[in-house]
Amino acid sequence: MEPRSAAESGKDFPYTARTTCYIEVHEDGTVTHGDDRAAYERAAAGESRLFAVWPGEWSSHLFVIDDLDEYAKAHGIKHDVERTGLKEHVHEVRWEPNPYATDSPRSPYIGVSVTLDCGCEINDLRAFAAQMKEQRGWNVATSGGWGSSGRPGGKRTYSLRVRRKSLTD
Ligand SMILES: [Zn+2]
Repeated sequence: MEPRSAAESGKDFPYTARTTCYIEVHEDGTVTHGDDRAAYERAAAGESRLFAVWPGEWSSHLFVIDDLDEYAKAHGIKHDVERTGLKEHVHEVRWEPNPYATDSPRSPYIGVSVTLDCGCEINDLRAFAAQMKEQRGWNVATSGGWGSSGRPGGKRTYSLRVRRKSLTD
């Protein structure tokens, strides 16, 4: 079976779909499974080749991961401004406690409304959480609900939950 090209599918390739399985073929012919950072680094160094099996309805498809950059961005190994909506800079964050949050005052998390004056958008909460951890020490909850509101063309306001003790400024 001749593998197809993942690069040809561009951003539509289901890099992070639950049903996509990765196979790594090492220089010595060993085959392993997984899609961790180490696998990416070996593939980028030319020490192995990555393939993805994408189970179709009637048959499985085999793809060669020939755009490692796209793969790394999809998996969050490399930051992707386009996917996440987040530039790699220090965000201008305005926040206030969310008056509609339903957390009890004893909850370790507090609901906050966040507006980004720098013009970024939060499309990927995990990426935003990692940046805020680094920039302000915030522990943003990445499981559970979050949302945004705003008019088209206007700034969006995001409802997030942040660990109370980490909200220092
Ligand atoms: Zn920003």
